[in-house]
Amino acid sequence: MGGLTPGGERTVAKKTLKKVKHVPQRTCVGCRSVLPKRNLIRLVRTPEGVQVDPKGKMAGRGAYLHDQRSCWLRALKGPLANALKVELSPTERAALLAFLETLPESDDDPLSGPSSAESPSSMTP
Ligand SMILES: [Zn+2]
Repeated sequence: MGGLTPGGERTVAKKTLKKVKHVPQRTCVGCRSVLPKRNLIRLVRTPEGVQVDPKGKMAGRGAYLHDQRSCWLRALKGPLANALKVELSPTERAALLAFLETLPESDDDPLSGPSSAESPSSMTP
């Protein structure tokens, strides 16, 4: 009885903290999802214009996007320019569109057919 444990055991607990890794999280400017940085593609504003930064190491203001066309298309409509605090020139826009063409197509593309006002009857000559 009366087993008062001395405080000698505390030193053990401290060392386990080292294993916890901090994963940087970023927001996709297309769909606003927050994900680990490694799952996103970085875009950076450089003096030459907005560029894709595959290695994520270029200096400058950056924004992140999924490797999904739908997110790029959405971002190009405004959110990307807002995030980078810059106006996208037609050249930059074209370059980014060319890049997104290399991305895999997603199964669900909400932007491909949003028009419900299609009337096939008007096609008749
Ligand atoms: Zn996204």
